[in-house]
Amino acid sequence: MMPVRCFTCGAVVADKQEKFEESVRRGDKPAAVLDKLGVKRYCCRRMFLAHVGIVSELVKYGRF
Ligand SMILES: [Zn+2]
Repeated sequence: MMPVRCFTCGAVVADKQEKFEESVRRGDKPAAVLDKLGVKRYCCRRMFLAHVGIVSELVKYGRF
């Protein structure tokens, strides 16, 4: 699950995650997508680029 805010500066990032992932899946370059979404600081950009979604993997091993 994506953290709601940037760990470093506290800006809200989770609200842009869906749009980011959808655009990247369509083939857009991640850097261009982040520019378009207005994510300028590199502390916030790494939140998107370094995020690995493992919740769908974990669901297999527990009752939710
Ligand atoms: Zn930040």
